[in-house]
Amino acid sequence: MSVVLVVNSGSSSFKYQLIDVETERRLASGLVERIGEPQGRTVHKVPQYGDDGAEATSAAEHDTIRRIDDHADGFQAMLDAFAQHGPSLEEQPPVAVGHRVVHGGARFFAATLVNDLVEINIDDLSVLAPLHNPGAVQGIRAARAAFREIPHVAVFDTAFHQTMPSEAYTYALDRDTAEQYRIRRYGFHGTSHKYVSEAAAGFLGRPVDELRQIVFHLGNGASVTAIDRGRSIDTSMGFTPLEGLVMGTRSGDIDPAIVLHLQRRAGLGVSQIDDLLNKKSGLVGLAGANDMRDLLARSERGEAAARLALDVYTHRLRSYAGAYLAQLGGADVISFTAGVGENTPLVRRGALDRLGFAGVEIDDERNESAKRGEITRISTDGSAVTVLVVPTDEEVEIARQTLDVATT
Ligand code: ADP
Repeated sequence: MSVVLVVNSGSSSFKYQLIDVETERRLASGLVERIGEPQGRTVHKVPQYGDDGAEATSAAEHDTIRRIDDHADGFQAMLDAFAQHGPSLEEQPPVAVGHRVVHGGARFFAATLVNDLVEINIDDLSVLAPLHNPGAVQGIRAARAAFREIPHVAVFDTAFHQTMPSEAYTYALDRDTAEQYRIRRYGFHGTSHKYVSEAAAGFLGRPVDELRQIVFHLGNGASVTAIDRGRSIDTSMGFTPLEGLVMGTRSGDIDPAIVLHLQRRAGLGVSQIDDLLNKKSGLVGLAGANDMRDLLARSERGEAAARLALDVYTHRLRSYAGAYLAQLGGADVISFTAGVGENTPLVRRGALDRLGFAGVEIDDERNESAKRGEITRISTDGSAVTVLVVPTDEEVEIARQTLDVATT
């Protein structure tokens, strides 16, 4: 049996998926939210598969409102949903639970079997990820109590980037200060970057350890990674997910002196600046919307702010594409993934259209007609660098790594 329960827990909600790793099928997925509020909500979805084993075309959705006191109560609500709407966890018992954890610091360089000490270490890393790790710990505790008999595995967003060399992860700051406060580049979205780079290699029928790859993960959060023969050697997110590319609501790279200027001249406090850079900047800051579809439509109508937002967005992508081509000494494959990367031909073209000198040649028709949900080559047959659109699947990657750790 190879059924794994994947859990992604925050402080007031968690998502779950029951995945058969062998077939990569989702047997159920759901969400428990508003934990601790009077009107807690559970949404449980059961995909319907055809007899021929084809992709699920529909899902039965079950929505329940009831008070959910804490994460333990949340797991009970999830178990009730399974019991009531299926699939039966007795007939298809998970062999392990995989937990998505945002921050593994410099301690966790791979998916790790959870025990009490690991749990304490993840909690300790809350200093570096105050918005994320405490919720993950709450989820892990409750899940370990709900599923006592099976192994639990923590899969870290940062782990894939632990292969970066010191010159890539070190900031040019005072060494003692950096060390005392654990300030270095950690990188995030690692699970997705790993999955996509392996899927790209699989699509090309080449071993991952022969390829130099650049992966653009462009969702609401966005990052790009340079991957040298399977190892992350540089990535755009840094000490936190704020650094790097222009994102839906985050600024990405800015001159750090802007923060000082805002404190001194605008009198903004720490939490106001935090809010400004993380929630009111990026595409939302530039054009008042973080949904790419919205911006594209408004830019087509000639709206200047939307145009500028798209130009700033693609300008940043080009800068990183150039930088990572230089770090890798050229690339064999460049992939685009996540909401924006998978669905926006204009962004893909904008990111690469000046890279002809480096052997990158986009085929416009392939780029425009890339199908949703499929790996698609969008470079010309003669392009020295293969450019792909690769749908990401972080949950399947978590399930695979979990099974791997749990069974070895
Ligand atoms: P998250 O980072 O939250 O996981 P996703 O990878 O799902 O995000 O990406 C969400 C973003 O993808 C949306 O904010 C939107 O800008 C963009 N997006 C989603 N679907 C499309 C589409 N069909 N065309 C263009 N952009 C899209």
